[in-house]
Amino acid sequence: MPGSGPSDVVTAPSESQDLFDESTFARALVPMTAEERIRAAVDRFGNHAVLISSMQKTAAVLMHMFHRLGRKNEVLFVDTGYHFPETLAYRDELQARFRLNLITLMPKQTVEEQAETYGCELYRFVDGQKRCCALRKEEPYIEHLRSRGHRLTMVGLRAQEGGHRSKVTPLQRDPRFGGYTMHPLFDWTDEDIDKYLQRYDVPAHPLHARGYPSIGCAPCTTPVVDGEHPRAGRWRHLRQADGEQPLYCNITAVDREAGKVSSSPKEDLFVIVPCFNEVENIDATVADIQANRGHLPVNVKIILADDGSTDGTVQRMRALAEAHDNISVRVNDRNLGIGATVMAASAEIPDEAWVTVVPGDNDFMFSSIERFLSLRDRYDLILGYIQNEVVRPLRRRLGAQLFAVSVRTVFGLPFRYVNGMKLYKAEVFRGIDVAAGGHGHNAELLAKALLRNPFLRVTEVPFGLRGRRSGEGRSLNVRAVTNALGSFAVGRRAVSDYRRTVLGLRD
Ligand code: SF4
Repeated sequence: MPGSGPSDVVTAPSESQDLFDESTFARALVPMTAEERIRAAVDRFGNHAVLISSMQKTAAVLMHMFHRLGRKNEVLFVDTGYHFPETLAYRDELQARFRLNLITLMPKQTVEEQAETYGCELYRFVDGQKRCCALRKEEPYIEHLRSRGHRLTMVGLRAQEGGHRSKVTPLQRDPRFGGYTMHPLFDWTDEDIDKYLQRYDVPAHPLHARGYPSIGCAPCTTPVVDGEHPRAGRWRHLRQADGEQPLYCNITAVDREAGKVSSSPKEDLFVIVPCFNEVENIDATVADIQANRGHLPVNVKIILADDGSTDGTVQRMRALAEAHDNISVRVNDRNLGIGATVMAASAEIPDEAWVTVVPGDNDFMFSSIERFLSLRDRYDLILGYIQNEVVRPLRRRLGAQLFAVSVRTVFGLPFRYVNGMKLYKAEVFRGIDVAAGGHGHNAELLAKALLRNPFLRVTEVPFGLRGRRSGEGRSLNVRAVTNALGSFAVGRRAVSDYRRTVLGLRD
């Protein structure tokens, strides 16, 4: 499945490879002017020193310097397919003036193809934005650098921008392509930039004058108002709370390093994938999990749990386990229901490990788990509610609403949704027997866990649904509804018994 950004697999150049004294070179850059830094990079790396341009002010300064210095080194621009028309027109205007060796890089998929692949426009979701930026910006850029054997890219980052960029240095290694990123303007101020553009009569991107101090893709960029941070207009639609909003797309090495997760994860995340006749979906479900695991701060282990399938699901599971060393398979000899299947798989998981359940119909967007994991230090149990209900047909939305109201009323659980993505420590539910085998399973389990430990730290976060692509959903046929009601009644009785017999509470 498409989706993973370039990984850190290329070895950075070593001094023994090319006798390049990196620290001496970096030190020498500090007192130089920006033009001298560009010259030094080109002297050292020849045509393998290139510039990446965002078409914002700092990029315009660097493009003009390339022009003044008569450089024909590549100037790269990544056309994400989502740029403002003004950005593309501005690129063409600068190119007409400067006649640079400008190369426009494109992502592998068009925006329409990507939306088709993922079933949504990724930029609309907190969890999708990183993937979208990786696919549409980082991947084409890094692939180009690798395929051309480039050794150094120049980027317009400056220390005055603040945040983690305040520590930006003239030269930094970038292991993604085994080379270096240079910041020729690292010590420039806003005033320096404006003065330069004025002095050489270089026009700025027209949107800067219309309230956009920082300009990216059109769907993810808005103007700012007085007093806002210059990057406050980026990904504003993804703001969940004050300060919680992506500010960088990670195309540059500095931004990527700052947002990077631990490279040596210590905790385990077990992903239980319950399946009943999911031969058409199991491969895509596993591919989605595997494509995301490299971004996560945990070791991902997958348990494919078959619940008596008769359509060849088990054979596909075994083939997947053969192909991946982080996958194991367990099989029920008959259909027991999703609850019993998950409980049986959970028995194999150590108490201290994290657990999530991803049904094998490929409906959950596994990338959402990143948000759950980011809260794992503060909560014992994180429940997901659906962020994009609209992908579900009306009858399923109505069914889910009815179910949520029933859970609230019958089980006394105040949560928006109990059958969605969740993350919990295995010990949270350890030792709790569950009578309900179907859809009442989760409600019973949660109710008992909260009865046992009233101080359980629980929170709710949104997660994305892809929408079912293949096979028939079974959640609303007559048999499934009957089973769900039966499972609900069983669960309710079991919770009552638990209150009375285990905790000594009166009904
Ligand atoms: Fe996608 Fe928005 Fe990133 Fe552009 S800025 S690549 S539209 S998420």
